[in-house]
Amino acid sequence: DRFLASLAALDRAVPRPHRNQDRRDPVGDAVQAEFANVPDTDPALPGNVAWSRDILARAAASTAGVATADAAVVRSEEALDEILGAAAEAGRGWGALTGAQRAAVLRRAAVELERHRAELLEVMAAEAGKTLDQGDPEVSEAIDFANFYAGLAERLDDVDGAVRRPVPLTVVTPPWNFPVAIPAGSTLAALAAGSAVALKPASQAVRCGAVLAEALWAAGVPRDVLRLVRAGESRLGRRLVSDPRVGRVILTGAFETAELFRSFRTDLPLLAETSGKNAIVVTPSADMDLAVRDVVQSAFGHAGQKCSAASLVILVGSVARSRRFRDQLVDAVASLVVGPPTDPTAQMGPLIGPADGKLLRALTTLGPGESWVVRPRQLDDDGRLWSPGVKVGVADGSEYHLTEYFGPVLGIMTAGTLDEAISLQNRVPFGLTAGLHTRDASELATWLDRVEAGNLYVNRGTTGAIVRRQPFGGWKRSAVGAGTKAGGPNYLVGLTDWTPAPSTA
Ligand code: GLU
Repeated sequence: DRFLASLAALDRAVPRPHRNQDRRDPVGDAVQAEFANVPDTDPALPGNVAWSRDILARAAASTAGVATADAAVVRSEEALDEILGAAAEAGRGWGALTGAQRAAVLRRAAVELERHRAELLEVMAAEAGKTLDQGDPEVSEAIDFANFYAGLAERLDDVDGAVRRPVPLTVVTPPWNFPVAIPAGSTLAALAAGSAVALKPASQAVRCGAVLAEALWAAGVPRDVLRLVRAGESRLGRRLVSDPRVGRVILTGAFETAELFRSFRTDLPLLAETSGKNAIVVTPSADMDLAVRDVVQSAFGHAGQKCSAASLVILVGSVARSRRFRDQLVDAVASLVVGPPTDPTAQMGPLIGPADGKLLRALTTLGPGESWVVRPRQLDDDGRLWSPGVKVGVADGSEYHLTEYFGPVLGIMTAGTLDEAISLQNRVPFGLTAGLHTRDASELATWLDRVEAGNLYVNRGTTGAIVRRQPFGGWKRSAVGAGTKAGGPNYLVGLTDWTPAPSTA
């Protein structure tokens, strides 16, 4: 007994690690206890080598999702009206099911998404230029969303004694850069919360949306409860977002798009994850090899086309003065292999379309005082394939400092102290992700206290949020109407309209 007591005392003495997640919701806590993230595909397993080659071969001539995507085009106001009416009606039936009944469908959706993994990877490579190492975690994330939101839905009916009234119809408008994980996450959350969904995939990634919808229908989501909608004309897109039967719009996209949506309908119930301009701070106490690796992955994964990407690295004190970090970074970036996603050796794939506008300017011109240490080069005729660029001399408050570019460019800034570095990090109008590389506990405490961003990463890259472990949501201009994080314990509650239960006292 004494031995057991001493063991129990030992247990109590183990310091509990701090977890970077929202802990306020006891329902969420119960789900978190039972939930496990699914693993990505291990490319080193012998069987997976042939599996990957096969996917890439099929991607070169892929027709996945074409028929479903074609059938989703809506050509007239009347057709759209009919779709929204049927979906809202079906949504009332779906919302009348218990959370546990809906959860059972979501758990089957997780299985179907796993079954569709190869096809999803094929269509992501074919349509959105995603290399397999970028696409595979997206499928895992989609599966995680299904399982995690199923767990939340099972308990939704008894969250803190409130009566929750589902929203009959939700419109989901995802971006092209995560053409599976983001539409999956928004759609599955709305379904779990008891709403029908009109999913309007990004125009550059309609077939990805189509294969996703096929997987969810195969899992038993009724066809009227999930409608795939492509607006044939922008007039119809506007109508889709502003229709009064639409009880919520979940948007992931540019901040300007959120503002545009609001201009369509001022009382629009909008939940939007928007832009980012994200920096990683490297202090002299950091593990430099790790920092170089994480900066490269954060800046150039999917050619920098992520809201979460790092497009600035801020070097503090002696890291800025010595050439070690910079030289190592330059070597690492210059040696990245750029190519189409069907080339299995490619580490960085193409842009979603030919570089233009502000991205083309960022790839081809420099601001005052800036110079290239790795100069970006256009590698193809149509301007989609660019080698990555790194520049130094980015000035505080400069255009590059404050603008989101969504491409393979990284700027280096320098700061005398950590405090100055944090000020540079916070000066941007957005607050999506922020990174710090340090091995000093007091530096970490200072940073956590002051940094203004929704998703904080320490000694890790700034991309690749993980369901439950690192829920995702922004501050400042990185979010509109949000407040709860996708993939976190409170997300579903935020998607229902609810009224407090009448007091029984
Ligand atoms: N959730 C993604 C990540 O953590 C970013 C999403 C986005 O780019 O919109 O990398």
